[in-house]
This record gives sequence, C-alpha cells and structure tokens, in this order.
Amino acid sequence: MDFHYTEEEKAFKEKFDSWLMSNAPEGYLGNMDYEPPEDWEQMAAEYRKFQRSLFNAGYAGINFPKAYGGAEGTVMENIIVSEATGPIYFHTMGGLHVISLGLAAPTILAWGSEEQKQTFLPPTLSGEIIWCQGFSEPNAGSDLANLNTRATRIGNEYVIEGQKVWSSFAHIADWCILVVRTDPNVPKHKGLSYFLVDMKLPGIEVNPIKNIAGDPEFNEIFFEEVRIPEDMRVGQEGDGWKVALTTLGHERYVGEVALASTFLREYEELVELARTVKLNGAPASKDPLIRQRLAQIFVELMVMRYNGYRNMSKLAKGEMPGPEGSIGKLFWSELHQRLTEVAVDLIGPYHQLNDPIYRPYHSTRWIQRFLRAKGNTIEQGTSEIQKNIIGERVLGLPKDAARAKKKS
Ligand SMILES: Cc1cc2nc3c(=O)[nH]c(=O)nc-3n(C[C@H](O)[C@H](O)[C@H](O)COP(=O)(O)OP(=O)(O)OC[C@H]3O[C@@H](n4cnc5c(N)ncnc54)[C@H](O)[C@@H]3O)c2cc1C
Repeated sequence: MDFHYTEEEKAFKEKFDSWLMSNAPEGYLGNMDYEPPEDWEQMAAEYRKFQRSLFNAGYAGINFPKAYGGAEGTVMENIIVSEATGPIYFHTMGGLHVISLGLAAPTILAWGSEEQKQTFLPPTLSGEIIWCQGFSEPNAGSDLANLNTRATRIGNEYVIEGQKVWSSFAHIADWCILVVRTDPNVPKHKGLSYFLVDMKLPGIEVNPIKNIAGDPEFNEIFFEEVRIPEDMRVGQEGDGWKVALTTLGHERYVGEVALASTFLREYEELVELARTVKLNGAPASKDPLIRQRLAQIFVELMVMRYNGYRNMSKLAKGEMPGPEGSIGKLFWSELHQRLTEVAVDLIGPYHQLNDPIYRPYHSTRWIQRFLRAKGNTIEQGTSEIQKNIIGERVLGLPKDAARAKKKS
C-alpha cells in the first residue's frame, strides 16, 4: 500500500487539522508545557466533550459503518485521524479511549447482535459510554482461560459472582466488557461467555488500585449476585474465548499508529530536554552518546509507525487481527521504556522530586511516564506471553516444554 497522501488525502488532512485547532483541549496543541487535568473525573469530562465534537463533525469511528454512527472513511483517513488524535487522548485524557474505541466497539461490531450494535456503537463512538475491560482475575492473567468469575443462568437472566482485577478506568466506566465462566464442566476454554455489563447494577463494587506512579488508574471489581439479562451476552453461551480473542487481537493490533504518534510527541519533548539539560557544561544534545541514543529511538519509532500502518492496511483488506499483533506490542512496550529511561538519565537525581517547585525540566511528568511505562510490558499480555505467541503462532515453533507437559 502507498502511504503517500493523494490530493484528496492532503485536503482531508488540512481540513481535519484546522478543525482540531479549534476543538482539541485548550492549550495542548503545539504547547510542550501543557499540564494534563489533575483527576480522572476531569479527564473523563474532557474525553466526553472531545469525542462528542469528533462525532458531531463526522470524524469519530472512521473505520465503522455509518449505520452505527461511524464515518466509513478510508484507511488513510483513519491513519490521519489516529495520528492526530493519539497524543491528545493519551496526554490529556489518560488514554481513556483505548478500551471504548479500541476494544469494546470493534468486538461489538464483529460479534454483537443487531440490537447490541444499534444500542451500543453510536453512544460509544460519541463518548457517551465509557467502557472498562473485566478480563484479568487474581488467578487468571496470562492464563486467562483459568478465570473463575461465574455466571449462572436463571430463567432469562445470568447471575454473576466473583472478582476481576486491574480493570483500567472501571472507577469511571459506564459499562464493562466481561468474560466469565458459564460452564465449569467442560474444558476451560469452552466454558466461557462474554457479556456487556452495566457498571451501575446493584452488587457491583469497584475499588481503585494505585499504579506505581501513584495514579488510581485501575481497579478491583467485585460482583455479588449481579443480575444481567441474557440479551447482554455477546455471541452464544460458550463462545466467550473466541469473542475475547477478537478483543485481545484488536488490543494488540490497532492502536500502534496512535501510540507511535504519541511517542513521537514525547520524543520531541525529549529532544527539547536534551537541549536544555547541561552535561559537562554543554547542552546534553551535543553529547555523542546521548545523540546516539536519541537517533536509535527515532529509528525505532519509525519502525513502530510503519508496522502500525501495515496492521491498518491489513484490517482495511478485511483481514482480522492475527497473532502477529504481538510483534508490535512487544516492540512498542519495550521501546517506550527505553525512551522514558533516556529522559530520566538526562534529568538525573532531580527526577525523583515530585513537588512542582523543584520541578526542573518537567521532571514530574517524565518520572510519571517512566514509571507508568513499566506497566507497558505487562498490560495487554506480558512480554514473555507475546514471545510465546510469536514463537508458537507466528513462527510455528514447538510449544515450550513446561506448558506442553502441563497440557498433556
Ligand atoms: C497498566 C495495566 C493495565 C491493565 N488493564 C487491564 C484491564 O483494563 N483489564 C484487564 O482485564 N486486565 C488489565 N491488566 C492486567 C494484565 O492484562 C495482566 O496483568 C497481564 O495479563 C499479566 O497477568 P498477571 O498480572 O496475572 O501475571 P501472571 O500471569 O501471574 O504472570 C506473572 C509472570 O509470569 C510470567 N508468565 C506467566 N505465564 C507464562 C508463560 N506461559 N511463559 C512465560 N512466562 C509466563 C509473566 O510474563 C509474568 O512475568 C492491566 C495491567 C496493567 C499493568
């Protein structure tokens, strides 16, 4: 696929960029000193406002059918909008879009009933509904099929009992994509079902957990006799594993273009930081070793960007996200850690000072990014799991001995 803009694409980009100038959160565009909102309520309000304005202007859900509120645009339009909005979502709204637009919406489009698509897709694309993802449990992370939260069918309802953990944004989410066990008597992958759950239902309790950067970003969710109607099941009973694989495929596949442009914006800040910080009396940007690290990161960001383009063009040809999505996930998560490490090395011991009055070179922002990036190689499946997937399902290598033995 040719990624150079045609005249129409250039015109689309110009129109979108100028629309963004008046609709992006105030003070963000072109401002390296931008300070994000302080709490999740504010970020959620920013997200809803921005997403609604994108939706009203016809720029939300570029790759979604018009019948469900999307824009039915081209791959290049999707790339243009994703690259421009990625840094906005991540730097001003805490990445709140990820589960709603990147996971819940494409899963409902692929597997939902007509009624579910009509009910959930337009308000998801317009930011009215914010989703969280209830997959991981205390005993089911890498081995997701081991999960124990139960849904028991009683008449035309299911009753949910159990606990989820690490659910990002559950403290402000309206709805949850949830995988639970509906049949404990069949092989573990076959006994799962997938549900859409209203987070306001009685019996749901959400407890925030602070991440390593001190931010209550993810949560435990407890379900005690939570009753949900059967028409909130996605796919058939027992299809939960297959539906969850669609969600996980999108999770590891689609966001790379938006993330690449987000990291490129961080890279611009990093270069600015290298120009500001002094090493041996001269700007650090003159130091050959720092220059080498910066150049290496830039090259890798370009690799990430083009891998993201490849994913998007495959989706546009109607292919479903496959196990090769793990290559991008493994690459970007480790790259982001290397990028933020350069900033922390440049700032030196100052990076640990949290009080704004001791904040030279935006050290707080960089330490938060550096610490948060530690989670990048865990969320969406750890690096070890991505390597297993690449080895076994992309390269066709034999299963690792320990797991092969466990299965037999
Ligand atoms: C920032 C963040 C946000 C998250 N958001 C969500 C969310 O919104 N919703 C959600 O459901 N979950 C979420 N998670 C949870 C995440 O998906 C899990 O933490 C992850 O899948 C790992 O599972 P675990 O924590 O149970 O670790 P475990 O599976 O217990 O793994 C522990 C260690 O063992 C290694 N390991 C395990 N199995 C193997 C194997 N077969 N081969 C080699 N090594 C192995 C792992 O790599 C890891 O190093 C989030 C996590 C983070 C950090």
